[in-house]
Formats: sequence, C-alpha cells, structure tokens
Amino acid sequence: MIIQVAVPGPFLTPLDYLYDLTEGPKPVLGGRVRIPFRNKERIGLVMNLPEQSDYDPKKIKTVIDVLDAEPLFNQTHLKFIEWAAQYYHEPIGEVVQAALPKKLRAGEAVEVEGLPAWKLSASGKKVTPNDLPKNAKHQIALYNLLKQASEPLSVSQLNGQLESWRASLKKFIEAGWIDEHRGLCLADTYLGEAPNHTLNDEQQHAVDAVASLPDKTFKAFLVEGVTGSGKTEVYLGMIEQAIKQGKQALVLVPEIGLTPQMVSRFNAFLQKPIATLHSGMNDSERLCAWHLVRTGQVSVLLGTRSAIFAPFKNLGLCIIDEEHDLSFKQQEGFRYSARDLMIRRAFDLKIPVVLGSATPSLETLHNAKAGRYGYLQLKLRAANAQMPSIKLLDIRGEKVQEGVTAPLKNAMQKHLEAGGQVLLFLNRRGFAPVLMCHDCGWQAQCPSCDANMTLHQAAFPSSADTLRCHHCGHQAFAPQACPSCECTEFVKIGQGTERLTETVTEWFPKHRVVRIDRDTTRLKGKMKELTDLARSGEADILIGTQMLAKGHHFPNVTLVGLIDIDQGLFGADFRAPERMAQLVLQVAGRAGRGEKAGEVLIQTHHPDHPMLRTLVSQGYDQFAIEALKERKLASLPPFKYQIMLRAEAHLAQDARHFLSELKQALLQMQSEQGADSNGLEIWGPVSAPMERRQGRYRYQLLIQSAQRSQLHKLWNQVEPYVYSSPLARKVRWSIDVDPQEMN
Ligand code: ADP
Ligand code: ZN
Ligand code: ZN
Repeated sequence: MIIQVAVPGPFLTPLDYLYDLTEGPKPVLGGRVRIPFRNKERIGLVMNLPEQSDYDPKKIKTVIDVLDAEPLFNQTHLKFIEWAAQYYHEPIGEVVQAALPKKLRAGEAVEVEGLPAWKLSASGKKVTPNDLPKNAKHQIALYNLLKQASEPLSVSQLNGQLESWRASLKKFIEAGWIDEHRGLCLADTYLGEAPNHTLNDEQQHAVDAVASLPDKTFKAFLVEGVTGSGKTEVYLGMIEQAIKQGKQALVLVPEIGLTPQMVSRFNAFLQKPIATLHSGMNDSERLCAWHLVRTGQVSVLLGTRSAIFAPFKNLGLCIIDEEHDLSFKQQEGFRYSARDLMIRRAFDLKIPVVLGSATPSLETLHNAKAGRYGYLQLKLRAANAQMPSIKLLDIRGEKVQEGVTAPLKNAMQKHLEAGGQVLLFLNRRGFAPVLMCHDCGWQAQCPSCDANMTLHQAAFPSSADTLRCHHCGHQAFAPQACPSCECTEFVKIGQGTERLTETVTEWFPKHRVVRIDRDTTRLKGKMKELTDLARSGEADILIGTQMLAKGHHFPNVTLVGLIDIDQGLFGADFRAPERMAQLVLQVAGRAGRGEKAGEVLIQTHHPDHPMLRTLVSQGYDQFAIEALKERKLASLPPFKYQIMLRAEAHLAQDARHFLSELKQALLQMQSEQGADSNGLEIWGPVSAPMERRQGRYRYQLLIQSAQRSQLHKLWNQVEPYVYSSPLARKVRWSIDVDPQEMN
C-alpha cells in the first residue's frame, strides 16, 4: 500500500511512502504517521491514498508507525489545506504544521483528559485566614481566591489573577485542603449574567440577512459598523441563530490578549462556555480547545489568526472582527491571510462568512461596493451613544510642551474636571526615539539594523537606562559618555509613551495615569489588570500605543488626543494612507461610547493634507472612495494582484543577484507564454525600505497583474527552478502572495 504524506520541509507536494498491510493499524487519510527521513524520524499527515506510485518501489521507504486510527481532518478540510498550499505557494508540509497544535506535531495523542483545576475540599473550607502564616502574602491571596470561587480554578485562571501561587497550592494540597478536578479546560468558565439587549433595527437587519440565507449557501457579508455600533452584539445574534440549527461558529479577532472582555461577553451572552485559541495559552490548553471544537463539545471558537485551521465537527458560520487588521496576515514563514482563507473555507463548506469593521480594508470595501459581498451597514452607535466630534489641531507655530499643545492640555483639564477620562494615543513606546550627543551629534544606532535605538528609562532608580532596537530586539545600556567625542551630555529627542506618561503625571498629580503598551503589558494578566483599571474608571488618564486602539470599550472616555500622526501621512508603502485612516478612526472611536459626548483632537503639522481633511470632515466612506480612485489610477490593488519575492543575505550582492536571476527566469517564461502574458509587470529588484535588518541586506521583487491566474501560473512554472537553484542556498528567500506590507 502506498500513502502520500505531507512532511515538514521544502517539498511542494506530499512524499510517497510504503505501508506494510499485514500488521498493526492502517494509516487513514487525514491521520498522522511517523516516517523515516534522512536518518531521522518525522511526523507527517496522510494526504492521499493513491493506487500506485510514480517512483521506483525499491526506493520508497516504509512507514514506521501509525499515530491516528481516526482522521484529524476530514476530506473537505484536507482539500482546504491543499488549496492554501497551492494559493500561497507554500510547501504542503509547512501548511500542515501551521494547521496542527504543537503537541500533535510532536506526536502526542489527540485525546485529552482535560486540565487540572482546584477548589477547596470540605476540610479546606473550615480553614480560616488565621490558620495561615501571618506574612504568607501569596498563601492568603490564593486562599481568598479559592474561597470566593464558585467553580474549580484552572492554571490560566490562577495565572490571570495571582502573581505566584504554585508553591502555596502545593502546601494546601499537602494539608488536604484541596480537591483536584479534571475539567474540559475551557479558558474561563465563569459565565456571568446574560445581558438584556434588544437589537436595534440596523443590528436586527444584519442578523436577519445572514440567518435568512438558505441552507448550504456560501455568501460573504461586510458588516460596516461605526465604532460603538454594537458589532459584537450583531455577531452574537448571528451565532445564536447558528447554534439553534445545531451548528458551530468560528470567530477570528486580532488579539484576544488585548480585549480580555470579549471572551466574557461571549460567555455571558451564550450562557455556555466558548473555546479560545490564542498566543496567551499553553500547548495543553491549545490542544484541549482544538479537541473540544473538533469533537463538537463547544459551539464557538474565538481565536486569533491561526485558529483558521482548526477542524470543526459542524461549522456553520464564520466571522472575522476588525477584518482590516494587519495581524490577520502572517508576516513570516507561511504568509497566509486568515481573512482570505476564511472566505475560502466558507466557500468550501457552503456557509456564510461575515467580515466586520468600522474601517474596512479597501479590498473588502471594493468587493462590497461591486456587489460581490452583501453590504450591511450600521450607521448609528448603539444604546444612544453619539459619534464623537473630531478636530484637527494645527501644531505649527503652537507652543508645544513635551509634544502636547496648549489647546490639548486645556481640553484634558476640562474633561478631567467634568469627571471624564482622557486617552492619549502615541504610537511609539519607550522614552525617546533618538539619543544624540550634545556636542558632536552622534546618534545611538543599532549595530545590526539601519535604524536608531530607542531610549528606554530604567525601571528602578538604581538601574541604568537602556537603548533598544525595536526592529531586532538588540539591547544595550545607554552610554555614560559619547562613544565618538567622550562628551557626557546627551539630548533625548522626540516623544515616546514613557516620556509622555512622566510629563502628564507631573501636570495632573491628582489623577491616576495608566500607560498601556507592549512594555507595561508583557507579563501575563497585566493587560487585563490595566484595561480593568481603565474600564472601571480608577485610571483617569490612559496613555498608549495602538494596543489601545483596538476594540476596547471604555464608556467614560470623553476625550481622545492623538499626539503625533504625521509619520503615517507620508509612508513609502502605498497602503500608508489607508492604514493611517483606519488607525485614526479606531483610536477616535474610543471617545464618547457611553452617555457623555466625546471629543477627539488630532495634532498635526499638516492640517491641509487632503486625505486627512476628507477623513475628518466627511468620514471613512468618502475617504475610501477617493483612495480607491487613486488606487485605480495608479494600477494598484485591489485593481491589480501582486506577489512579492523577498531575499535577504549577509552580502547585499547575494540577495540582489538571486532576485535578478529570478527576474530573468520570469521574463523568459513570460516571453514563452507570448500574448498570454500581456499586462504582466515585474518591478525590481530594489532594496527594502530598511535595507539592513538584523545584519542582513534585504531586497525585493514585485510581480503584478490584473489577472490573478496569470500571476500564479507564471510562478508555478518558475518555482521548481527556484527550489533547485544553487543561489537560493546563499540567501533567505520568501514568497508573499497578496503582500500587505511593502517592507
Ligand atoms: P463595536 O464593536 O461596534 O465598537 P460594541 O459591540 O463594543 O461596539 O458595542 C458598544 C456598546 O454598546 C457595548 O457596551 C454593547 O454592550 C452596547 N450595545 C450594543 N448593542 C446594544 C443594544 N442593541 N442595546 C443596548 N446596548 C447595546
Ligand atoms: Zn559626541
Ligand atoms: Zn536592530
């Protein structure tokens, strides 16, 4: 018996293996096998059971072990995985790797017995805090938490609420105060109270449009709802309908860690625990969630990008929230778009797919306006909240203190006095983006990148400031003296969130300031802690990067200030204006979501910038219409399709040379195709906007065409040469279909 196995590595198709039929369990389509591979063993997935092999049977190796008696993926799902491999021109084994949880890639069993969770035993309940050592802070905290909990607490719940608990728990177990449970490992089983909302007309219309679709129908919908219009409520309404018909739903969101409230909203509304899949979970938790979904024990999976590959028992609805968000595109390795894969998956399964956003990508908007997608709009904010007023603050000639103009500072004062919260957006973490010598102008640069190092202030007065490269992670202590002239005086140029926080804390000493960026939320549970402070109103002033822009609902924020958006106005990437508009409106959308009206102030040196003016005075839709016109004139996506080829090497010439050869091969194929290849464009090779990163020189080659099929056909013809080219071994190269970033 011959089987074809997807094996990790640079193989574009599955590899043939022999299987000895006489003994042991049989390999199944969509199940895992262990196979010999260059003196090692690997785990692969059975993709086909062909009648015979094209290879010499004597050369085919034999399967070592069959790991699954039942398929992990059904046939439709295998087809979906194959499609993804073909569309993104990614080796099939690598796509399978992306689709499997780590524990299954490592060969562990798919069945899980659940994860441990703990509650107080009968004798544990009799304990009083006086029985605990007086200064055992961690024991007391753990004890109080267990005492309050109505259900056993899992590892993730404990991690989310306590700093340190394992040692204390061990003591409690030894004392016989604890009962251990093995649960279904649902991240957060506390369901909370069901909300009592009646959908408004626009919301109901959107839910009905999807629910009234005949069974076994594929259709994509865009839900374009202004910030605060209650899109989540709409998704929940749609999911409720799907569940009524016995179906499951897949919901993709940009980052669950960023919006911890999302999971509780789902649980409370559905009054049933949902499963989640995201980077904050450990491997056991992930496998468990995967298993629950595959066996149909939960109805909803809420996950980030990679959840698109999870197998379902009976998937009936796909939803992607903030569909414009860049995080749905994987930017390294297998560069897939979870949004585009979701559309394909819904198409395969003949089910509806819903793309939601306040600021849809121009691609999606174009499809909706052309009638390819159902176009559902929510133009009003839910629950009587009003859209905020947005104003540009001309920063030119203004007196600016630490990046903040007087009018913005005054507005902060006014809103704080009125009892509102203020949110300041600055998309740059650290203290200052540039450290310069006062005497000779020397600047701290990353040794491995074409970039400045950012100055970060010491966490404790006793330690030293650091310099960090935000591109490669390189770190060093800030120098005491200039490496070039030995002068000891430095200028810290520009604003980062640390500096802004310091300034604002000085200005408003009576108010609590909370900074939310990647540095303050690195530890587990921190994001929840800080956003809870923001939501409850304990924090008066919130300062943050784009982490604060996404999906949060802080009802008491009445003023949003955008400190510095100018760098987004003139990016090298043709998508820069689009991204900028999305970010500005998402940040602005945090204002006035409750009862009090919101105000948004945008500081800029370019108040006459046409795009900014259109956005502020006429809104996203008009902006998008104009941006799409420009794209059409310039022959850019969504009117053209693109594939980007990138190469990087320690020697610039290696990367350039590789791409030049590739270009030659493409041109030759193109001329062989003759008339067929009209309108195909090849740009480059050129250096990337940041030419050197992590010590490597980076180059790129862009191919573009009005016909997607033409592009893919051409690449398919060239691909085998690339894989076998000796030049390819000198560089790191990658292919990016529908690239989202030109860097
Ligand atoms: P979006 O995701 O569109 O920005 P949300 O879904 O976060 O908006 O909704 C904003 C707020 O409005 C939430 O607090 C939500 O509970 C509330 N809300 C949404 N729809 C309704 C409704 N029909 N009735 C009452 N409150 C609603
Ligand atoms: Zn100097
Ligand atoms: Zn660097």
